Amino acid sequence: MSARTTLFVAATAIAVGCLSVAPSMAQTPAHQPAVPLIASASLNSNAVTHPTWYPNWEPGVGKGNPVSWPSSWPRPRLLKPAVTGPLTGRVIVIDPGHNLGNSSHVSQINRHYWVGLNKICNTTGTQSRGGLPEATYTYDVAKRLAQRLTAAGAVVVLTRNANNWTTYGPCIQARGLLGGQVHADIEVSIHADGGPSYGRGAFVYTPARMTGYTSLAKATKSVTLAKRILSGLAANGLRGSTYLIPNVAPDRMQGTLNVSTIPTVIVETLNMRNSADAAIAESKTGRQRVADGLFEGIRQYLS
Ligand SMILES: [Zn+2]
Repeated sequence: MSARTTLFVAATAIAVGCLSVAPSMAQTPAHQPAVPLIASASLNSNAVTHPTWYPNWEPGVGKGNPVSWPSSWPRPRLLKPAVTGPLTGRVIVIDPGHNLGNSSHVSQINRHYWVGLNKICNTTGTQSRGGLPEATYTYDVAKRLAQRLTAAGAVVVLTRNANNWTTYGPCIQARGLLGGQVHADIEVSIHADGGPSYGRGAFVYTPARMTGYTSLAKATKSVTLAKRILSGLAANGLRGSTYLIPNVAPDRMQGTLNVSTIPTVIVETLNMRNSADAAIAESKTGRQRVADGLFEGIRQYLS
């Protein structure tokens, strides 16, 4: 594939990544299929809520004073390991993309903030062909991944402890900053794409070098993490993207990645608008395979 074609394909995928769903399509729980999702009770009972703050960065102002985490957002959640293992001593932030309630808080999620560029707080995300919201998918995969990580000895912090219609967010700047705030080794944001129906597979956004935001070290380590994660997914039978090549894409348009102070990636784990990928997203075993692939990539990176 020529360089020009590569750039065109990448630009197309970035344009459709995390496609917003019109509120009318995702406003009511009636659109949720009867997909069995992992129960919160099965997570480690040592879980506690982690207090935090986020910087109030306004458009045209830049880095402003910190403010409290709003009560209308889900809280971050700290999960402590009950056992020691290969990841003992590691702290990993897992960020399940979006929130179910973003669809019912349109004015709040459309507020603009400064994250290295002017962006809105959050988006609704896409949904699978069978109607599974991206937010519900990412939350379930995140919990499965957290189980694997804590079972290997890691401390895990989830950026949100709920996926419901009464909360929205957190905004992307708070998600992106959380890793540094809790002194994590890495932060991994879990998403699924709303790409072209003919294409399938995973791709990973990494932070692009940007003065004041992303250093060479952060950018380089994040690319390594991205490659390990794609390898981990492949080891679990999950392919790289057929419509964004190469499958690792440095991107300065991703506020979550810009504001992070540690190595970080956004993983578009599959394409929810493709029938084969949607079948993976909509099945319990499929979501476990995604979580297992992410776990394997993280384990390899931190080893
Ligand atoms: Zn997304």
